[in-house]
Amino acid sequence: MGLKVCKFGGTSMADGNIILTDAKIVQADTERRYVVVSAPGKRFGGDIKVTDLLYRCSGAFETGDRKQFDEVFAKVRARFLNIEKEIGKDLGVSAALDDVETQILSGAGRDYCASRGEFLAARIMAAVLDIPFVDATEFIRFKADGTLDEETFVLGGKLLSKYYRAVIPGFYGLGADGKVKTFSRGGGDISGSIVARSVMASLYENWTDVSGFYACDPRIVNGCKSIPELTYQELRELSYMGANVLHSESIFPVRSAGIPIRICNTFRPEDAGTYIVKSFTRDSQECVVTGIAGKKGFTAITLEKSMMNTEVGFVEKVLGVIGKHGISFEHLPSGIDTMSLVIDNEYLKDGVLQTIMEEMRIAVRPDKIYAHENIALVATVGHGMAKNVGTSARLFTALSAAGINVNMIDQGSSELNIIVGVENEDCAACINAIYNEFFA
Ligand code: ASP
Repeated sequence: MGLKVCKFGGTSMADGNIILTDAKIVQADTERRYVVVSAPGKRFGGDIKVTDLLYRCSGAFETGDRKQFDEVFAKVRARFLNIEKEIGKDLGVSAALDDVETQILSGAGRDYCASRGEFLAARIMAAVLDIPFVDATEFIRFKADGTLDEETFVLGGKLLSKYYRAVIPGFYGLGADGKVKTFSRGGGDISGSIVARSVMASLYENWTDVSGFYACDPRIVNGCKSIPELTYQELRELSYMGANVLHSESIFPVRSAGIPIRICNTFRPEDAGTYIVKSFTRDSQECVVTGIAGKKGFTAITLEKSMMNTEVGFVEKVLGVIGKHGISFEHLPSGIDTMSLVIDNEYLKDGVLQTIMEEMRIAVRPDKIYAHENIALVATVGHGMAKNVGTSARLFTALSAAGINVNMIDQGSSELNIIVGVENEDCAACINAIYNEFFA
């Protein structure tokens, strides 16, 4: 018999009725034994996530603005009391909220405050399912440098084996200082993956509000197809490039154990969703490209120098300049006498671009150095590309037919992706052209 871990995201925890639907989903399959939850998210456009309200509470507490704190905490209270009302049972929410408020006001800290949405949501889910609540601080441990302590899996395995079923709050664990510590935003996905690995689940089900991963952003390509299966590696490439169904770090715990992830839609539980697996099993003839993702806001700094290829240490000196400024780069396409560095604009604000170009000029004395700003990177990802001759020809013919000028090309060495740099304003047209070539 299999063992499944289900993680319900913010929209699947947004109100009492949807929590009752989640409970039905869990109860419909006896293999669904461990449940991880996010804090209640948005119920409608313009609504505020509970986690955002809690960050505001923490901010008001830190600046000593008690009036503001009371106002925002009242909203948190109203959200949870409303959930209890919709569920139609006394779940002890009011007393739990009083306790949380007292702890925040006695200085429990920002991460403690932010984590209480998950804490309260998990208590509610445990009461609805009538199964134990296990706090994440009991086994999810961070090291002093803020990274996850591998000990977590051992502790989690031992602790959770004592419970046949349990509900665990997502998004936080215990820091090296003994205080509550959160993951980065959206980190409930990482908690679900940690629980799945700790109990060596046969499947990690991630319940959200879409029916899986789409071949590209449906806001860019109307009616685009969903992907039935993708590999951990493809997922990593696509989420890094902006496809944000799952937190990009959430695959690490399950990947090493080969536990598949299934993305499922709470609002359409009958849909098959997307399976994220270790190795590619689809027919590579039929599935050349798995997905396309794009991100705007990059700059390419290009250096040209005759005989660059014979100058030992050239690239090292250029990288030394950005390293000194704490800047990392995305891509480094190069030719015999040219090289370019593609960098996220976030690093280049407030004159940093000019400073590093000047330092590069001094360090390597190029014949020419120039920056191309406002570049979008579009990644076409798929294991099938390596096995199908002519894939890049199809891709570039499609882009040229659509009149899109390509500024940069980079193909990952595993032949898993082809990345092109285009003008920011061509990003959507570029994704549409590639989609139409490979999927339509
Ligand atoms: N509630 C947290 C957030 O809004 C974590 C999560 O939902 O996964 O970022």
